[in-house]
Amino acid sequence: STSPLMTFNDGRTIPQLGLGVWKTPNVTAASTVQTALDAGYRHIDTAAVYENEDGVGDGLAQASVAREDIFLTTKLWNEAQGFDSTLKAMDESLKRLKTDYVDLYLIHWPSPWREKYVDTWKALVQLQKDGKARSIGVSNFGPEHLERIIGETGVVPALNQIELHPRFQQHAWTKANADHGILTEAWSPLGQGKFLDNPVIGEIAKKHGKSAAQVIIRWHIDGNRIVIPKSVTPSRIVDNIAVFDFALDADDLAKIAALDSADGRLGSDPATASF
Ligand code: NAD
Repeated sequence: STSPLMTFNDGRTIPQLGLGVWKTPNVTAASTVQTALDAGYRHIDTAAVYENEDGVGDGLAQASVAREDIFLTTKLWNEAQGFDSTLKAMDESLKRLKTDYVDLYLIHWPSPWREKYVDTWKALVQLQKDGKARSIGVSNFGPEHLERIIGETGVVPALNQIELHPRFQQHAWTKANADHGILTEAWSPLGQGKFLDNPVIGEIAKKHGKSAAQVIIRWHIDGNRIVIPKSVTPSRIVDNIAVFDFALDADDLAKIAALDSADGRLGSDPATASF
C-alpha cells in the first residue's frame, strides 16, 4: 500500500487514505475500484444507500489484488436501524459486495428521532463477534451519541466518520473522538470540490507544485485523520493519492486553520436530520 496505516482501538489497522464512492454510479463502480487499486489505493468507502455495493463488489471480485489486502467499509442505512434489521441489512450488503466480511461497518447516521441507534450498535457488536465486520464504528455521531452507546454497551467505536474540510474543521467533535480513543475520518474532505478554487489553497498549492486537492488531502493526513476523497476521473484518482512526497509547513497550516467557518457545514446536522 502507498498509504500509511492507522491503528484502531481494537488493534486492527486502516489505510489512512481511501477512495470514497458516494454518487459513483453502480455501472461505473467496478472500473473506478480497479483504477484506484492500480493507483495504489487499498481502501474503499461505500454505503448501502449509495446503491453501488454491487458494482464495488464486482470491482473487488475482478481485481488482481487479494481481498484480504483491501480495506472495505460499508454503512448501515438509517431505515434499517434496529437489532434484527441491522443483522439482515449486513447480510444483504455482503451479498451485494460478494464477500463474507467487511473490514469496517458503520452506522451511517445516529438518526436520533428513531431512538434506535443503541440497539443498532448492539447489532454491530454482534456482527463483529460473528466475524462479518472485522471492526465497527459510527458516522455522524456527536459527543452525546458516543457517550450513550459507550455507556450502554461498554464498546467504543473504532472510528467516527464526520463531515470535515477546511471550511468546517470540527475541532470539538474531533477532540471528543480522540478523548474516547476513536479515530476521526473526514467525509467530503475536499468540501465536495467546492473550495478547490480557494485562493489561499491555490497559493499553497503553487508554492509546493501540487494541486489544490493534493494540498487539502495532505492537510488531512497531517491532521492524523483518515481521508476518503471521491473521484470517478482516473487522472484525479491518481493525483489524490500522490500526496506522500511533500509536506505542509507551519505557515501553510496556519493559513488553512484560518479558513474554518461556523457556517461551513455542507451536509445535514446529525442532531436534527429528518432522515
Ligand atoms: P469530496 O469532498 O471527496 O469531493 C469530491 C469532488 O471533488 C469530486 O466529485 C470532484 O468534483 C472533486 N474532485 C475530487 N478530486 C479532484 C481533483 N483531484 N481535482 C479536482 N477536483 C477534484 O466529496 P464527497 O464525495 O462528498 O466525500 C467523499 C466521500 O465521503 C464520499 O464519496 C463518501 O464515501 C463519504 N461521505 C460520507 C458521508 C456520511 O454521511 N458518512 C457523507 C458524504 C460523503
